[in-house]
Amino acid sequence: MRKSVVAIVGRPNVGKSTIFNRLVGERISIVEDIPGVTRDRIYAQAEWLNHTFNLIDTGGIELGDEPLLVQMREQAEVAINEADVIIFLVNGKEGITAADEEVTKLLYKSNKPIVLGVNKIDNPEMRETIYEYYSLGFGEPFPISGSHGLGLGDLLDKVVSYFPERNDGEKDEDTIYFSLIGRPNVGKSSLVNAFLNEERVIVSEIEGTTRDAIDTHLHRDGQDYVITDTAGMRKRGKVYESTEKYSVLRALKAIENSDVVLVLIDAETGIIEQDKKIAGYAHEAGRAVVIVVNKWDTVESNEKAMKEFETKIRAHFQFLDYAPIVFLSAKTKKRLHTLIPAINLASENHAKRVPTNVLNDVIMDALAMNPTPTVKGKRLKVLYVTQVAVKPPSFVVFVNDPELMHFSYQRFLENKIRDAFGFEGTPIKIFARRRG
Ligand code: GDP
Ligand code: GDP
Repeated sequence: MRKSVVAIVGRPNVGKSTIFNRLVGERISIVEDIPGVTRDRIYAQAEWLNHTFNLIDTGGIELGDEPLLVQMREQAEVAINEADVIIFLVNGKEGITAADEEVTKLLYKSNKPIVLGVNKIDNPEMRETIYEYYSLGFGEPFPISGSHGLGLGDLLDKVVSYFPERNDGEKDEDTIYFSLIGRPNVGKSSLVNAFLNEERVIVSEIEGTTRDAIDTHLHRDGQDYVITDTAGMRKRGKVYESTEKYSVLRALKAIENSDVVLVLIDAETGIIEQDKKIAGYAHEAGRAVVIVVNKWDTVESNEKAMKEFETKIRAHFQFLDYAPIVFLSAKTKKRLHTLIPAINLASENHAKRVPTNVLNDVIMDALAMNPTPTVKGKRLKVLYVTQVAVKPPSFVVFVNDPELMHFSYQRFLENKIRDAFGFEGTPIKIFARRRG
């Protein structure tokens, strides 16, 4: 069910980010339009043949002023911990350096498959030099040129040959897959523990996978759940774990594997920019979202305080206006019982399908009350609406001209759909298509 993860490692300047960008290509992200969200990504989806996988550029995890050697070691650790396959990149123009040998030593200790890419082989004559790289002990070296896009196909063929057989059918439709995301110390592991120790939860199985992620299967009141990817909550105490890029990477990986994402906020310290970014990724991925305000024991808990905190959240997380908010304390377990109903609700709405005829009645009523906009004298005509997908619920609106359907009108239709059908806890998507 999980997508394979590929990480690129190597000393600085060998071309990691060049290769990353080439393999990922241009992908437009809504999150990146949210102010403050960084543009340079280190984790993104890539495709090769019929494989979709996630790619990590470990070079993007910067560790402040740590010495180069420490940085490289930490980056290699990230690759070893997170990836299914590692691309080890060296610079074909410079030969094997002491720093390459340092990385080599670390990679020997991992039991992950490693594909050796010799970069900057910009022309065929240079290919003869690659034999020297056999001495690194990772088998056949693949000559590539990141800047010219050469040799990447052969390299990727080798990479995908290590992917496990597809097991897409494995995910059980009746099970709710959820995960917790949030910046370090918001209480993710405390909340998982509090939850697992709750009386009504029966933990059936904890599965380690090759990916160093843990899926915990549990059962409560007739419903099966899987908490995915709690590995990030196990404290490894590594330097890189405190970096922001790494926590984003963690969050993205957790999001990938769940239907419902709990976005944790720390009531004690309040909302910070990083919370917004992390939450933005859950929204962008189209997952159901529940906002959990943890450490509610640290504030004076009453209705007024809750209302005030909710107002703050709504102001900061406008793009998550559909997400229910739960206030609780992982430490004292106060209000912990409010969490599961919110997860169930979000999950149900995420998978909800509405009948086409009812949907069209709702939209046509809305249109009757609110004339469609005109652009340069041309009026938008809405002909028909249909739900085309779930998780998240997605709608196609057939119109005379998609250009006439502006964001604000889309928003209007979304609100009408929400008013009529709920959809609390889930984003919904609306696409305009031309129909004559
Ligand atoms: P990173 O530090 O490993 O991420 O390396 P970068 O991707 O930032 O690349 C370092 C430098 O090498 C940049 O100036 C790139 O333009 C250059 N570079 C990357 N790939 C190639 C290549 O295939 N051939 C050549 N000649 N230069 C490259
Ligand atoms: P993580 O990094 O998000 O997994 O956070 P942890 O679960 O490790 O918690 C970080 C710190 O916050 C620890 O010292 C916890 O004891 C504390 N903590 C977690 N939940 C609560 C809570 O509900 N109330 C209070 N007062 N402290 C909490």
